[in-house]
Amino acid sequence: MNVLMPTSLSEACAFCAKQPDLIPLAGATDLLVHWPIHPAEHDKSYLDLSHVQELRTIGWASGTLTLGALATYWDVLQDGRAKSEFPLLLEAARQVGAIQIQSRGTWAGNIANGSPAADGVPVLMAYDASVTLTSAGGSRSVPLHEYYTGYRKSVRRPDELISAISMPIRKYDFSVFHKVGARRAQAITKIGVAITRESEAPSLGEGVGGRENFHPWRVVANSVSATVKRCTAVEQLLQSNSPVRKPEDFLPALASDVSPIDDIRSTADYRRTVLARLLYHSLRNVAPAVT
Ligand SMILES: Cc1cc2nc3c(=O)[nH]c(=O)nc-3n(C[C@H](O)[C@H](O)[C@H](O)COP(=O)(O)OP(=O)(O)OC[C@H]3O[C@@H](n4cnc5c(N)ncnc54)[C@H](O)[C@@H]3O)c2cc1C
Repeated sequence: MNVLMPTSLSEACAFCAKQPDLIPLAGATDLLVHWPIHPAEHDKSYLDLSHVQELRTIGWASGTLTLGALATYWDVLQDGRAKSEFPLLLEAARQVGAIQIQSRGTWAGNIANGSPAADGVPVLMAYDASVTLTSAGGSRSVPLHEYYTGYRKSVRRPDELISAISMPIRKYDFSVFHKVGARRAQAITKIGVAITRESEAPSLGEGVGGRENFHPWRVVANSVSATVKRCTAVEQLLQSNSPVRKPEDFLPALASDVSPIDDIRSTADYRRTVLARLLYHSLRNVAPAVT
């Protein structure tokens, strides 16, 4: 096994450019899980990012919250401003594993691991997060809801690292995160959902051309598709003010948004039914048409 230990992002990217099959290592809470079972399969080359101090940051500037790639759940739980501006980040962070995992696991690792059950990803997506991908050739920003291309597949090239995750600071008048598991803590999610409603249209100057039609709702579900999934049909249903009088009224929209499967944790039918109920009971008397 070969472990490279860069101390700067540029050095890390230079290693990736030379050797694109390097496996980045952040908190290692996902990567090391399978090692005791199949040690021979892990005899590979790793890029340990833990000494790259510039990635261990949480920044508030220019109307944006930026989490460096080594920012952990615990870092966000300790950030007073995150608590008031992005409460769902804390809701999700508290429900990831226990304190040991929260203090090592990173938001970037949660994204890069690509599990459809990831709990950090839905709340980031519900806040319109973007992922900064950095290589020796420069950086690019990808909206998180466009990051995944399939089960554990993404637009990230092998020579790119996630260097940061950014979220615009906006005003929200409603937000909720639900995680349904086999027990209240230390459980892999069977069905999860994050919902936000932005409370006011952005000022004229913001996002020229991109935000002329104000869409306040974001609905993101996990463990019900091959990837964490933004539910745009549900968002449009809420935007359209079509009446929703029972959980089942969400099912036609969900049929186009998600494609749950039967697996050891749950059945597709249970996942669909519970997601519709979570939506209905979260939004009843919050969204005007959900009564
Ligand atoms: C006991 C236990 C409980 C857990 N509970 C939960 C839970 O409740 N909810 C949940 O969502 N997850 C849970 N996890 C999974 C895990 O803790 C999280 O997904 C965590 O966020 C992973 O972050 P990490 O820094 O440890 O990633 P790592 O394990 O270091 O890496 C994960 C993947 O991301 C890649 N990667 C990491 N950083 C980068 C980067 N900067 N650029 C490109 N690729 C990168 C790695 O190569 C690897 O493929 C649990 C894990 C354990 C062991």
